[in-house]
Amino acid sequence: MSDGQIVVSGLTKQYRNVRAVDNLSFTVEPGRVTGFLGPNGAGKTTTLRMVLNLVTPTAGNATIGGQRYGDLAEPLRHVGAVLEASSAHKGRTGANHLRVIAAAAGLPRQRVDDVLAMVGLTPAAKRKFKGYSLGMRQRLGIATAMLGDPKVLILDEPANGLDPEGIRWMRDLLKSLAAQGRTVLVSSHLLSEMQILADDLVIIAAGKLVTQGPVDQVMGSMSGAAHVRVRTPQADALTAALTAQNATVTPAEDGALLVLGVDAPAVGRAALAAGVELHELATDRPDLERVFLELTAGKAAIR
Ligand code: ADP
Repeated sequence: MSDGQIVVSGLTKQYRNVRAVDNLSFTVEPGRVTGFLGPNGAGKTTTLRMVLNLVTPTAGNATIGGQRYGDLAEPLRHVGAVLEASSAHKGRTGANHLRVIAAAAGLPRQRVDDVLAMVGLTPAAKRKFKGYSLGMRQRLGIATAMLGDPKVLILDEPANGLDPEGIRWMRDLLKSLAAQGRTVLVSSHLLSEMQILADDLVIIAAGKLVTQGPVDQVMGSMSGAAHVRVRTPQADALTAALTAQNATVTPAEDGALLVLGVDAPAVGRAALAAGVELHELATDRPDLERVFLELTAGKAAIR
């Protein structure tokens, strides 16, 4: 069992009439950024709160490096977490906020300067928290989570409210932390964010696992329905040639043919071999955000 591996096993949380998390199992590996993706209400926050011992599971359990969070002797040195846009005493400076937490947790004072530099807040360290922008608050939240130099970092919707530049900054920071061998688990309800941030994906809907795996693999399987759009004045001849190769050919409304089951080069070769003239040949990639919504929609959690 690796130090920073997170193992979620049969995790379930039943509220009065909502099963927020339903027999959920997945693994999060060190050295990678894992995106925990699902539409709003899918159960992400509840899961993360169970991992962090803030919510008691109805069934199942979660371990970090083989131990439950509640059993960790010095949790801040093992796990850093940012659960919501960070809050701090409004009149306190960023640096003072970190000093108070470091002192309470018995962490060396030097860590305050280290984490401020890590998140790019050194120039704003002496400014009061109430003047911080949302992006600066997110940075301070990550700085707080990193105070104990933890092997595991857990972030709930850290890209919320960030502009594209802020998201890119977040990606670079999370990737560099993962490259140091840390485990980085980050939730979001937006596939487009996860495409930028994550190496691995765990997708849930209505408290249940939908799929998990490396981002490219998951995206690849989601775009498995990519079809080839082809236009020809000899539709019947091309349809016959492609059907003979077990492809499915459907006429589109605009007169093109939509081909499933073979790729564009194969369609081109089939046309050449059959002496069919082509006027258009293209691969239509499905909109991944739409596929994601379809994949996760309509799975009601209420029972
Ligand atoms: P996500 O983080 O993916 O948006 P949540 O974990 O916040 O999802 O919520 C999952 C489901 O559990 C939602 O239907 C939500 O309304 C419900 N839920 C969350 N917390 C509570 C609670 N304390 N009491 C009752 N229902 C809750």
